[in-house]
Amino acid sequence: MNRESYIAQLKSSKEEWDFIVVGGGATGLGIAVDAATRGYKTVLLEQSDFAKATSSRSTKLVHGGVRYLQKGDVALVREALRERGYLRKNAPHLVKNQRFIIGNYLWWEKPFYTIGLTVYDLLAGKMGLGHSIPMSKKEVIKHVPEIEQKNLKGGVAYKDGQFDDARLAVNLVQTATEHGANVVNYVKVTELLKDANGKVSGVVAQDELNGGTFKLKGKCIINATGIFVDDIIKMDAPEEKPLVRPSQGVHLVVDKSFLGGDDAIMVPKTSDGRVMFGVPWHNRVILGTTDTPVKDFVLEPKALQEEVDFILETAGRYLTRKPQRKDVLCVFAGLRPLAAPQKHADETKTKEISRSHKLIASDSDLITITGGKWTTYRIMAEETIDLAIKRKSLPLKPCKTKNLKIHGYRENPDYNHWLYVYGSDQDEILRLQKENPDYAHKLIDDYDFTVGEVVWAIRNEMARTVDDVLARRVRVLYLDAKASIEIAPKVAKIMAQELRKDESWEKEQVKTYTDIAQCYLA
Ligand SMILES: Cc1cc2nc3c(=O)[nH]c(=O)nc-3n(C[C@H](O)[C@H](O)[C@H](O)COP(=O)(O)OP(=O)(O)OC[C@H]3O[C@@H](n4cnc5c(N)ncnc54)[C@H](O)[C@@H]3O)c2cc1C
Repeated sequence: MNRESYIAQLKSSKEEWDFIVVGGGATGLGIAVDAATRGYKTVLLEQSDFAKATSSRSTKLVHGGVRYLQKGDVALVREALRERGYLRKNAPHLVKNQRFIIGNYLWWEKPFYTIGLTVYDLLAGKMGLGHSIPMSKKEVIKHVPEIEQKNLKGGVAYKDGQFDDARLAVNLVQTATEHGANVVNYVKVTELLKDANGKVSGVVAQDELNGGTFKLKGKCIINATGIFVDDIIKMDAPEEKPLVRPSQGVHLVVDKSFLGGDDAIMVPKTSDGRVMFGVPWHNRVILGTTDTPVKDFVLEPKALQEEVDFILETAGRYLTRKPQRKDVLCVFAGLRPLAAPQKHADETKTKEISRSHKLIASDSDLITITGGKWTTYRIMAEETIDLAIKRKSLPLKPCKTKNLKIHGYRENPDYNHWLYVYGSDQDEILRLQKENPDYAHKLIDDYDFTVGEVVWAIRNEMARTVDDVLARRVRVLYLDAKASIEIAPKVAKIMAQELRKDESWEKEQVKTYTDIAQCYLA
């Protein structure tokens, strides 16, 4: 995975690609994997880093969505549960089987949630991760020692998937390139090209790191730009009405001791009717989320004070130790690319808008896909490529992703090893450290992360900025924003050596990174 050689190849390429995918989040990467594994000539362009936008800011659940079941959206839940099963099977190094517990504080909750979650299990069929079971108060406390015990009557436990979103994105890039796709970060599509019949036939792209623009010709252009889809749609048809409405979701990261065990908690109905999770993740707990309608379409959304307060207050009601602002190690915000139905009754309530994806083709054959979930990225990709094949009369090639092992695939990984998220690459990183003992040095005392992982990220995972490394390769930003700011200079130095950059680049990187990371402090 060498960005520079991929770019050189793109710049000199005169041939026509079968697929040009715009956007390197879950959706675009899934499409690139699907197209490349079917044998189509595929290129993917990402304007920033892979998963920089929404795809690194999820709740980290691979789930059917208990909440959608509550709303009676059975088809959506069944589809997501099936996809949960495929993802767990194809990327076991990244997708864990996680127990969730709903604490019951009212007499009717235990039978109600036991029945509901049994339906959830049944909908998963053969792809289920385990049965839901009612629990006594004593059992609930044993599994979640820090759960609020006042008025606790018992609980219900169920299973869902839990993963590392940005790591999965990196592994999808690797999977796509291993099947012949050309996938690059920091290349922005600025214009669409059209042929004499008014059909989209290519893109103008801009290298955001080294400057310069180039043109690419393609049979199918796929717009998978998440919350930014309307920008690309406007390049095609300036008069089109917006398709997407962003809704902000905020999460807080706190120490694992706030739950006290390895199980997650789920609050089915918060004071304002939302669902809230407390999920163990990399020795921390993620608390969230919110659902706030916002107007700005940005790569770095910022949490609102009231969102942070809401999560602290809600979590505090269900935990014996009430988390305070000083306990928050990281605050991150993400924007849901909700596909809004045209005639929606109440435009201020984004949580009422469909979470299902939207796939549309324009008169000029631009194919746009948005909405959906990380969990359903594979089926979204399959549907997109199937539609493109029909629309452009491409030679029919069947989808191969249901049983495709994702890069890093490793059965029964040791989830206690800090390198487990690398799957089969774990051995390569350890080998690198053996060959060069400097690479085994820790980046910071309190964490296991080493110099070797930074070097690995540059050489094998296309990391080109300090933010790429600390936010989406080793994820320190999400575990402890303050610590990540402390190690930024060290990471910049390692990167400068590897990428042959000068001192001013190093300084500029530290400053840019620090500015970003400051916004992740509570
Ligand atoms: C708070 C929150 C929690 C969530 N939790 C979960 C969860 O637990 N489980 C789950 O399954 N799903 C979850 N989701 C949903 C899931 O994260 C999203 O559905 C998914 O990440 C969307 O991916 P995407 O690729 O469509 O969009 P994005 O990740 O936003 O990717 C779009 C990409 O397009 C790029 N781009 C834009 N314009 C251009 C251009 N002109 N040229 C090149 N590139 C461009 C952007 O830089 C961006 O990287 C959550 C979402 C949110 C917001």
